[in-house]
Amino acid sequence: MSAPAVEQANPAAPVSPAKAEHTTREGAFGNAVALSCRECGHQVDLGPFYACPECFGPLEISYEFPAITREEIEAGPANIWRYKALLPVPTDIETSPNTEPGFTRLLEARNLAAELGLTKLWVKDDSTNPTNSFKDRVVACALSAARELGSKVFACPSTGNLANAVAAAGARAGMRTVVFIPSNLEQPKQVNSAVFTESLVAVDGNYDDVNKLASEIAGEEEGWAFVNVNVRPYYAEGSKTLGYEIAEQLGWRLPDQIVIPVASGSQLTKVHKAFQELIKLGLVEDKPYKVFGAQASGCSPVSVAYKAGVDAIRPVKPDTIAKSLAIGNPADGIYVLDICRETGGAVEDITDDEVREAIVLLARTEGIFTETAGGTTVGVLKKLVETGQLDTEAETVVINTGHGLKTLDAVSGAVGPAATIAPSYAAFAAAGIV
Ligand SMILES: *Cc1c(COP(=O)(O)O)cnc(C)c1O
Ligand SMILES: [Zn+2]
Repeated sequence: MSAPAVEQANPAAPVSPAKAEHTTREGAFGNAVALSCRECGHQVDLGPFYACPECFGPLEISYEFPAITREEIEAGPANIWRYKALLPVPTDIETSPNTEPGFTRLLEARNLAAELGLTKLWVKDDSTNPTNSFKDRVVACALSAARELGSKVFACPSTGNLANAVAAAGARAGMRTVVFIPSNLEQPKQVNSAVFTESLVAVDGNYDDVNKLASEIAGEEEGWAFVNVNVRPYYAEGSKTLGYEIAEQLGWRLPDQIVIPVASGSQLTKVHKAFQELIKLGLVEDKPYKVFGAQASGCSPVSVAYKAGVDAIRPVKPDTIAKSLAIGNPADGIYVLDICRETGGAVEDITDDEVREAIVLLARTEGIFTETAGGTTVGVLKKLVETGQLDTEAETVVINTGHGLKTLDAVSGAVGPAATIAPSYAAFAAAGIV
């Protein structure tokens, strides 16, 4: 494949091994052995690097896995560290303070399945992580890397949830945190960061502007670990744990179809990587599965490219209530296209009204309150069924990546009291509630 059509996220920060000196302790990254370029395969030593010195392609973690059994994993803690042998973290990772995310519930969604006409549907509910989104997974891995690399400041540009997770994990680790968000972010997400850190910085601009600023700071300041910039390869691996858990919770099986939200596209590519690793390690049986990506129409550069049948992703200016997915220039968008096409899946998008409807649908069928990102994913699941892109007989998993309390405004106009009555039986009876 050709070099990524999207602009590489962070041209200003240190990218080559020559520029940043570091020493790490033996085994600091577990079974990870190198960083290798997703485009050209060039390898560099493990360190605070994220772009290939040869072609500027994204660097990914490479491993030499020992034999690993299901029983060894099952004997681990009920959090993502049960998969530590498959992550770029040290073998003693549990001894360092972190947020211990993961092993969230996989719920069979019988009511939603019946509503949509599906035979078997599961919701992977990541809203119950420590800061109520899937971002705690990636941040836990980034924190480990920042610690091993001797970083002084733990930081991120964020669409909201990442800032919450970074601020909380940094607080637990006793590390200085600085988190950057677009200034128009939902108020609950701002409070959910500010409560953990003194250094929440609101930037007048959209996420892509905030990301660019973070790259500049990473290039100027020594010892800053921007979780999704200069330690992005380590950060991204955290998303694999979603894939591992789904397979383990299905009884060490892969689903037939999975619907995953797409912001930068990292999560979707890593869930696929996780499934492939489990197959290679013999932990699950090899079988075909289809990967579907979900976006909101107001920020759907990957869906637009998918539908146009092209490889290049044209950046957009986001305009959607699904702010946690509002990345107009998604770094891993081209890989999302590859995976969805290769597996026979698709990328689909829905309107903000459909996002709101889907939030209420999931709540009223399954008792799960999701944020706008989950509304997007469930709404896309519905649209995929309605448009015949999803096999209704096949076992399907949909991922809920965040909690509805963070985006209350999205549905506060759509739901509320059925009646406001005087405290008397007569008033209740007259209101016609039942
Ligand atoms: C960040 C985020 C995602 C997806 O992120 P990627 O950048 O595609 O990995 C999905 N849902 C929520 C709630 C998020 O915060
Ligand atoms: Zn390269």
